[in-house]
Amino acid sequence: MTKPSKDTLSRMIAVVGERNAITDAADMARYMKDWRNHYPGVSPLVVRPGSTEEVSRIVAIAHDTGTAIVPQSGNTGLVGGSTTSADGTQVLLSLDRMQRIIEVDATDYTITVEAGAILQNIQQAAEQADRLFPLSLAAQGMCRIGGNLSTNAGGLNVLAYGSARDLCLGLEVVLSDGRIWNGLRKLRKDNTGYDLRDIFIGSEGTLGIITAAVLKLFPRPRAYETAFVAVPSPQAAVDLLAITKDLSGNRAVAFELMPQICLDFTEKHTACRNPLATRSPWYVLTELADTPNGTFERIFEAAVERKLASDAVIAQSEAQRQAMWDIREQMPDTQRLEGGSIKGDISVPVSRIAQYIEEATRGVLDYMPAARVLAFGHMGDGNLHVNVSQPVGAIEEEFLGHWDAITAITHGVALKLQGSISAEHGMGRMKRDKMRAIKSPVEFEMMRNLKRLFDPKGILNPGKVLPE
Ligand SMILES: Cc1cc2nc3c(=O)[nH]c(=O)nc-3n(C[C@H](O)[C@H](O)[C@H](O)COP(=O)(O)OP(=O)(O)OC[C@H]3O[C@@H](n4cnc5c(N)ncnc54)[C@H](O)[C@@H]3O)c2cc1C
Repeated sequence: MTKPSKDTLSRMIAVVGERNAITDAADMARYMKDWRNHYPGVSPLVVRPGSTEEVSRIVAIAHDTGTAIVPQSGNTGLVGGSTTSADGTQVLLSLDRMQRIIEVDATDYTITVEAGAILQNIQQAAEQADRLFPLSLAAQGMCRIGGNLSTNAGGLNVLAYGSARDLCLGLEVVLSDGRIWNGLRKLRKDNTGYDLRDIFIGSEGTLGIITAAVLKLFPRPRAYETAFVAVPSPQAAVDLLAITKDLSGNRAVAFELMPQICLDFTEKHTACRNPLATRSPWYVLTELADTPNGTFERIFEAAVERKLASDAVIAQSEAQRQAMWDIREQMPDTQRLEGGSIKGDISVPVSRIAQYIEEATRGVLDYMPAARVLAFGHMGDGNLHVNVSQPVGAIEEEFLGHWDAITAITHGVALKLQGSISAEHGMGRMKRDKMRAIKSPVEFEMMRNLKRLFDPKGILNPGKVLPE
């Protein structure tokens, strides 16, 4: 693609007004740098439309002139999808002004929001109506619903409520020629042909720009039982999950696995402390919603009897509950403080979690014996973040040079076990070149055809999701 002309840029600026257009490199820096700073971009213009109509007019100009547009919401994505290329040819369209909560409907259990609404603000608006919007992730104070839907975000409560896709009833989308599709429906049942909404969800801005959404709300749980449990092995955690589901009447809303090394990092770099007096090779953080008193005690007794758990503590207050969650949520940041970290985000069937951890860890350590493997995360969904920290004292740049080799190991085991190499972060730029290898020719061709159909000029987020 060529650089947009001055005239094209002026036409776009005229749509939003000078105040909402950024052309100065220093002012646009925060839009150009991705969360991990692996894919910094360069752009002649950041446009910040304030309405769907403005998004539509900007995209129509891009379509007329063949200008590439990169949509960005909260810019917390982890696969390089939300920043522009470095060649200065792409315009960045930020949804950050479109933050309105349009309607909370407590009767229909829905909330209608603009795409730039911050996830935490949506949760709070739901709570004010005594409802729950259950999508929850560590970036919730920064990420925005347009980005959550475009990446089909998962997070902590997928076990009970599903991922972003499962939480969405309707969408409004600006198509690549600027036309607006208003699919803001509140229906739970609507079998009138192909599901267009699901095509846009998870498409990472490559098929259309989401401008608003109708989301599902749920009754707000009145009480949580949150427990931190010491388990001897990942297989014990898998078995504990089954007991937890059974004995709670399927009321487990979260089930996170973490190894001791994750706690070591967290205790070293933060004020968080292991709530258990004893060390254990593995821990589970689980949360039950609205269960009868004593439910977790019964689960724990059954687990101890089968040697699946050695110790546990139940949060006795909201502060203790929050302290347990803080341990989990600090984990990605503390890894950053331990030097280079090679990131993975895989899923396998839950029954294969233990085999995955064993084989992936062995594979990485065979390759680099002093590497530190941290496999942790949303085990209840079969999803692990397999992050490999550099050996103590290694040079970060040199270690990161092993990214492809280490990732080949962690991905290879996932694929062997019929898993996925991107459980929740998407493909973006980081994984797009792997697409051909992980999809059958038929599946790959269908994806290419969808892209051609929805974006025939290739102006929407070029170079993301599919290989160029
Ligand atoms: C600390 C931390 C913890 C995280 N934890 C989780 C987790 O538990 N689960 C999880 O799934 N993810 C997690 N993530 C990743 C990230 O937060 C999510 O992917 C989030 O959903 C991205 O939202 P965003 O608003 O920041 O999107 P952005 O980063 O702005 O964009 C992400 C992608 O969506 C596209 N896009 C953005 N807005 C639109 C739009 N309106 N229309 C069309 N395309 C659009 C962008 O072009 C890009 O490809 C985490 C990230 C961080 C930094």
